Amino acid sequence: MRSENMSARGLTRLTPRAKLTKGQTRSNNLRLALQIIFDKAPTSRAEVARESNLTPATASGLVDQLIELDLVESIGTGPSAGGKPPMLIAPNPEGRQIIALDLSSSTFRGSLLGLTGETELTVERVGATHGEAVAVALEIVRELAGKASAPILGVGIGAPGVVDNQGGTITSANLHWDDETVAEAFASVIDAPIHLINDAHGAALAEYARADIDASNMVLVRVGFGVGAGYVLDGYLYRGEHAAAGEIGHVRTDADEGALCSCGSRGCLETKASMSALIADVGGDRPLTRAYIEDLAADPSAQDAIARAAIELGRVFSTVVAAFAVNELTIWGEATSLGENYRLAVQDEIRKRVLAKAADRIEVRYATTGEDAVLLGAAALVLSAELGVVW
Ligand SMILES: [Zn+2]
Repeated sequence: MRSENMSARGLTRLTPRAKLTKGQTRSNNLRLALQIIFDKAPTSRAEVARESNLTPATASGLVDQLIELDLVESIGTGPSAGGKPPMLIAPNPEGRQIIALDLSSSTFRGSLLGLTGETELTVERVGATHGEAVAVALEIVRELAGKASAPILGVGIGAPGVVDNQGGTITSANLHWDDETVAEAFASVIDAPIHLINDAHGAALAEYARADIDASNMVLVRVGFGVGAGYVLDGYLYRGEHAAAGEIGHVRTDADEGALCSCGSRGCLETKASMSALIADVGGDRPLTRAYIEDLAADPSAQDAIARAAIELGRVFSTVVAAFAVNELTIWGEATSLGENYRLAVQDEIRKRVLAKAADRIEVRYATTGEDAVLLGAAALVLSAELGVVW
């Protein structure tokens, strides 16, 4: 397994969708060829040469290397264009596997994914707070690693809070972790690179990699227990100082009043726009679930409270959308169960508050990656960090 990891590291690390520049170093070319094969599969050596502007001999040599590394496979022959029929190539889904973890809700989930991003197996464990959370997460990784049928490219972990991928630590109020040295703990159970990502950042990466978005910029806002955001800017996942970009839920929207927030402050955005705030606003007494939010969406007496929550979210995110010149705001989390009225109310509020010329271009939409967004984002991070490509 060690040699597999060394081979993978031979490829250039890259942030997703960074501009691929042509004809530079050998490993850049290898990465470029691999990305073309991911994008165009099934494809051929001739197409890789055309798309990369490399000579047919060079492109063919790169494809041979990728086949040698088990990252690409031959899948038969295509129609002849007059001469010898071309050999078709595609990413090898069985060449590597990725372990992804989502520690962002009360049930921890872990998946084993193939190289092309399809989920092969998902396991769940009731999550734990305090000291046991790490042990539960390690148990999931051990189980998935035991069932792997290919070398593990890496382990991607999505967690709430401030996630420091460089230092390998997570600080999370929900998990009761304070600078928990997560990467070190995982390295003790599996011989593969460990990558950490904030849950909203992971969801943003998954949406960006998977959704049919014709833009290089995207803001994703998670609206559930709290409010958090993830940004893809000019094709890069933006993490910010201490990887805390998007911790916008604790910005106070009132100067010195408002409801008490879990952070100890008053009048934070979370106390007005989160789904827990919505439940408090309607005087609800059930725990936050999608089913409960769907019930509220259908309840006439809850409509004013839903509109208030939408306006509060739109108010703050109009600034974010304008600051980054983003045309698309993607909502993810339990709030997506509120349906069209809520989505349009957020959109209207943002459009009302930005420059009139830009207003019509701004769309608010719901995420398409659903419950698996954090898992897919954590896996996409592993793929981009280890092989320099995106799905
Ligand atoms: Zn707060």
